[in-house]
Amino acid sequence: MQFTDTNCFLCGTIITKEHRTPVFGEWLQQKYNLKDKELLLLDKSVTTFGQLGIPCCDRCHTHYMLPLEHEVEQAATKGMAGLQALPPQRLFQWIGKMYYGTLVTELIKEADPLVMPEYAVSEDPKMLGKFRSFYQVLQSLRVPMEFDGFLPCSLFLLEVSPTEDELPFEYQDELTTMAFSIKLGSVAIVCTLLDNGIIRKALGRLSQVAEGQLLHPIQLAEFKARVFYAAYIFNVVPEYFIRPQKPGDDHLVLDTLIDDVTNEIFNPWEMPAYAHMLEEMWKPWSIREQQILQNPSQPISFLLDEHHQFKPMERYVKQV
Ligand SMILES: [Zn+2]
Repeated sequence: MQFTDTNCFLCGTIITKEHRTPVFGEWLQQKYNLKDKELLLLDKSVTTFGQLGIPCCDRCHTHYMLPLEHEVEQAATKGMAGLQALPPQRLFQWIGKMYYGTLVTELIKEADPLVMPEYAVSEDPKMLGKFRSFYQVLQSLRVPMEFDGFLPCSLFLLEVSPTEDELPFEYQDELTTMAFSIKLGSVAIVCTLLDNGIIRKALGRLSQVAEGQLLHPIQLAEFKARVFYAAYIFNVVPEYFIRPQKPGDDHLVLDTLIDDVTNEIFNPWEMPAYAHMLEEMWKPWSIREQQILQNPSQPISFLLDEHHQFKPMERYVKQV
């Protein structure tokens, strides 16, 4: 794992600055007109989706990145059914590549003496441990690998109703909590990386209720707030181990371990902090924290009613 301009992000081969693979696949950029769309980085500098590239050798680009992008592109043309049919491990790799690509971009910038980041991710030992664990499972992009009985992330696939949906494409990621979401047409993929599916289990009721429904965009935003907040209080870093190889094995098998003895898996869920996250996600509807917490123990929800059942919603009517 090297955060430099001159090593392939995947195999480490020494390369020149011309060798790049796009963080956001060419097809995505074309389909959603992203090339010149602006993206704000952690240090507040602005780049575009088209400019974001990961240092990558020609071999990894041709053998691993292009086929992956092609597979996801094909699946995405079939909408929800296509993306659901993709092996979850492929979706993990695709998201993992974009996440890692933005991470590398941030970290290469941090190393620039002219940039003084407010919070240097690369100097935080816990974060580096997390990235290292993540880098191990990301190698499944290149090395045939089986995760035995787990997926190194939680995946949620949601469908948005067209009635008030104005955004054909939407993208969000949080580098430190590894929460990620991308919306392709009517389908939103929300993902928390490196939690071994624990967040999905913890939010089981929520995903049961919301997946398979046509969500209003404000409901999707609430769903994301809950998942992103869960990632924020998620408190453990899984470790991964390669099982010893036998002669004739054609792939690696990975086992995982989570230390839940010395660590609580989640820090406590704090309503004000959650409401803050929700306020962020609800910015387009300008719903403020005070409103959200009018009843401090039961924040406003557009997704669930008081019996935790799904609340169907066609249009958003501003409440006064
Ligand atoms: Zn390479």
